[in-house]
Amino acid sequence: MEPKVVSMEMRDYIAEMGAETINWCMQCGLCTNLCPWRQVPGETSEKFNIRHMQRLGQMGMEGFEEELILFACSTCGMCQENCPRGVKIINNVRSMRGSIVGAGMAPANLRPILGSAHANGNPWSGPRDKRTAWQEGLDVPAFGPDTEYFLFVCCHSCYDPRSTKVARSVAKVLKHAGVSFGVIGAEESCCGESMRKLGDEELFQKLAQSNIDLFNSKGVKKIITTSPHCLWTFKNEYPELGGEWEVIHYTDLLAQLLAEGKLSLPKGMAKKVAYHDPCYLGRHSKIYDAPRKLLEGLPDVQPVELNRNREMSLCCAGGGGRIWAEVPMGERFGELRITDAVENGAEMLTTACPYCLNMLTDACNSLNKQDQLEITELSELLADSIG
Ligand code: SF4
Ligand code: SF4
Repeated sequence: MEPKVVSMEMRDYIAEMGAETINWCMQCGLCTNLCPWRQVPGETSEKFNIRHMQRLGQMGMEGFEEELILFACSTCGMCQENCPRGVKIINNVRSMRGSIVGAGMAPANLRPILGSAHANGNPWSGPRDKRTAWQEGLDVPAFGPDTEYFLFVCCHSCYDPRSTKVARSVAKVLKHAGVSFGVIGAEESCCGESMRKLGDEELFQKLAQSNIDLFNSKGVKKIITTSPHCLWTFKNEYPELGGEWEVIHYTDLLAQLLAEGKLSLPKGMAKKVAYHDPCYLGRHSKIYDAPRKLLEGLPDVQPVELNRNREMSLCCAGGGGRIWAEVPMGERFGELRITDAVENGAEMLTTACPYCLNMLTDACNSLNKQDQLEITELSELLADSIG
């Protein structure tokens, strides 16, 4: 057996990249046990062990670089929420990825994604001038000096054909509720959340700085996000770079307006609807009630609670750059979620995140359950309600 080499240089480098708490880990293994990878079979499940990966990081030892290990974490936060030592596990993952990606060794499947974010300001290979294509026929207002909120639409909902319906629905409902909002458009760049989680710190800084300069030059004070990933990043990662605004997810704002009687939802839907808590809205941002209040506000809807809900919600597997991963059927977390919904008698599974919408739709199709379960984004139900 080859002796393992401990590298103090690598250990220090990983710590400097943001893994300041990696040495707090006492190797109890709770993180590994709580990880959704324990709930699916397959090669990644067999290879990826977050406790062990962090041990290698603590020692600066080789063995974590393999793609199936280093890029397996979806940054769902389940382990981090429950770590008895308060280890910032996701920062450790990000830093260990950074030690590889920063050295120009990103996995081949991620290079076009990172390249597109560099060149086009979004990871979806979408041209900048098509960023506003989702607005066609909607008369979406432009952000100006007298506008209260800047609506930041996630790149996924600017370019992905299914997801553009989320952007259109949010804009439609905001208009219906009389919210003063506007968009900037083609000059906007990706919030950079996935790029940072993938370990491309330089790219994240470039995207963030470009957005901060743009938003500040336009006089932005308040932002509505369509995606929980943008919400989390603007709130938690931009302030230290000079981006400080009031940031709110659309569900949070609309739930407030509904409670104040400023949003009416006239049309109902006699269906059993389960709500899937997105990790970045729920566990990471602690927003559990707002989407449920909106769902309950829809006439005739029968809300269904999934067994694994709120703090214990099961990840869809789309975070941390995993939305670009090719995962064999039978190994997808989303498939477990579809089974949860069907077994709970739901006819529809709705969520409040474009990544979850994408992952759950794929999982529903791969299980061939489209006839039993419809996958939607909450904004679509709200837009349908107002007609
Ligand atoms: S739960 Fe926390 S302390 Fe325990 S092994 Fe995981 S990171 Fe380390
Ligand atoms: S953040 Fe989620 S996917 Fe990543 S190691 Fe922790 S539990 Fe597993």
